[in-house]
Amino acid sequence: MRPRYSSGILCLALTMLLGSATPPFTQAQVIKSGASSCPGVALTFDLCPVRRGAGYDQALIDYLIEQKIPATFFMSGTWMTKHDEQVKALLQIPFFEVGTHGEVHAHLPLHSADEQKQEILGPVRLLKTKYGHDATLFRPPYGEFNDDTVNVARALGLQFILWNVESGDPDPMLTAKRIEDRLKQLVRKGSVIVMHANGKGRHTYEVVQDLHQHLLPERNLTPMTMSDLLICNGQAVP
Ligand SMILES: [Zn+2]
Repeated sequence: MRPRYSSGILCLALTMLLGSATPPFTQAQVIKSGASSCPGVALTFDLCPVRRGAGYDQALIDYLIEQKIPATFFMSGTWMTKHDEQVKALLQIPFFEVGTHGEVHAHLPLHSADEQKQEILGPVRLLKTKYGHDATLFRPPYGEFNDDTVNVARALGLQFILWNVESGDPDPMLTAKRIEDRLKQLVRKGSVIVMHANGKGRHTYEVVQDLHQHLLPERNLTPMTMSDLLICNGQAVP
């Protein structure tokens, strides 16, 4: 199934529909961008499970490495179990950051808090036990969440990362030009851009080249990992 990203309205509607005994989350716990004074942007790539194909955009990754472009990847557990070599390769790059994206890419608000905890913990445990990596960033599948999701992530010590610029790259109807035009309208200081590195984005590689060669330098914006973006206040580029 093609990932789709729900609007805040859908999240709110689901929250109201399902109800919750926990107090409402504060927006500060759900991170959508860096500081508007920060001259950086985070290029973030979800690695959602795929049923067919390689599930890995090798050309895109090679380009990011060759050009030394900082990037952040959110890996699902199911994707990791099929891509052991790629997990290792991504973890080795010093300017890449790796977070998690749920175990099976579940619609979290449809599950109990306990089930959500297991879904969120799966890839966190796998990264720790198999690869010795402490992943502190978490992005919910489809961007869907409720109060339980936020509370569980916080209790596990994870930073809850959404985005404020949706590239739309998995949409097969969008041309590279359409995606680039969208980014031109939306990308600014502190932006977090969501894209895909699992091969679902047919034009992702092309779009990232355009970002790196044109849009970002033209606007004096520097790509940063998610963690660097979060500590960037515009005073200094880490
Ligand atoms: Zn996803």
